[in-house]
Amino acid sequence: MAGLSTAQRLLQQGALVTILERGVVGQEASWAGGGILSPLCPWNYPDEVTRLTTRGAELFSAWAQELHAATGINPEYETSGMLVLPPFDAQAAKHWCAAHSAYSVHQVRAADYNLLVQDDALYLPEVAQVRNPRLLRALRQHVELLGGRITEQCEVSDIVVENGQVQALTTSNGKFIAQNYIVTAGAWSKEVLGRNALRLDIKPMRGQMLLFKFNMPPLRHIVLQDDLYLIPRHDGYLLVGSTLEDVGFDQRTTSEARDMLWQRAQKLLPSLRDMLLVRHWAGLRPASPNNIPTIGRHPKLDNLYLNSGHFRYGVTMAPASAEILVNEITGAQQPFDVTPYRSGWGV
Ligand SMILES: Cc1cc2nc3c(=O)[nH]c(=O)nc-3n(C[C@H](O)[C@H](O)[C@H](O)COP(=O)(O)OP(=O)(O)OC[C@H]3O[C@@H](n4cnc5c(N)ncnc54)[C@H](O)[C@@H]3O)c2cc1C
Repeated sequence: MAGLSTAQRLLQQGALVTILERGVVGQEASWAGGGILSPLCPWNYPDEVTRLTTRGAELFSAWAQELHAATGINPEYETSGMLVLPPFDAQAAKHWCAAHSAYSVHQVRAADYNLLVQDDALYLPEVAQVRNPRLLRALRQHVELLGGRITEQCEVSDIVVENGQVQALTTSNGKFIAQNYIVTAGAWSKEVLGRNALRLDIKPMRGQMLLFKFNMPPLRHIVLQDDLYLIPRHDGYLLVGSTLEDVGFDQRTTSEARDMLWQRAQKLLPSLRDMLLVRHWAGLRPASPNNIPTIGRHPKLDNLYLNSGHFRYGVTMAPASAEILVNEITGAQQPFDVTPYRSGWGV
């Protein structure tokens, strides 16, 4: 998501872009994500996260329309709203929504929304969703239509540095030379940067997800309870996620996570008990301290850039992160103060 969205924006500004991808583009964390276009409880995050997710959410509808029009692939952007079940801090939610005009919050009864709980809930009608695999296909196609080159099965193994500049990339397909280099390798960004990572703190954090298929959507809105969420798609698919596991680069799924997610989801939506599990997968989020990504130029190498570490919200943040990074490269004005996104280098 980070690589394709950055490439798309650069191509639209007239740059020549080649993406080097170790496997097949859009098959890692970006494919695995749920596509909720908001932080789970947005009032729990620092301003640096809010600024990027709010800007991303603001740009998303037009971005999805642009991609649909250009490629014929519909990313299925939909303002489906999100119900937040207890425990939550209603006061914090109200204050946050009052301070952020793009959002509103309403106190409702969960039982009115086809859920087996009697509690009061918070409803955020402005929260939207997108279908990641479709968004990625559209993005890939648009990048190619704009003249971008995508070289797959090409692993970057070294960044060759001389005189304060990157001179080339060593890859499994030989050397690549460019004017500027941008690392968008998600959970693997620190490994790709190698000795140039300075004090960057990006590490993998596994998330597992379950997929079910109903004849009719069993819910109208995204439902959130603590870290558990249910995401209804309009064709009856329902995603249940997710875990947050610090297990290194282990991408396996586990029966413990499957049972835990399924049982917790059944308590809210009992009809899930009789459903067949269509698919169970895991992805590695690029985790950063406080969920604040690093976006911008390397402090010591002036033709090396990073757009990574978006942790739980890399889909939501994608259009805003691409905008900020490309503004930095071209010297265009930023939509807000972007200095917090440089602090991840730790120097
Ligand atoms: C279960 C789950 C649920 C999520 N839900 C949401 C959500 O609802 N909303 C939201 O906004 N975000 C969500 N996220 C987070 C979001 O998916 C990520 O933040 C985002 O996808 C990160 O994108 P990325 O492009 O940085 O990383 P990736 O998609 O992982 O892409 C990195 C790419 O770099 C490639 N690569 C790695 N090493 C090399 C190398 N040496 N050479 C060449 N290529 C290399 C990889 O193969 C990969 O294709 C979720 C994530 C998970 C796992």
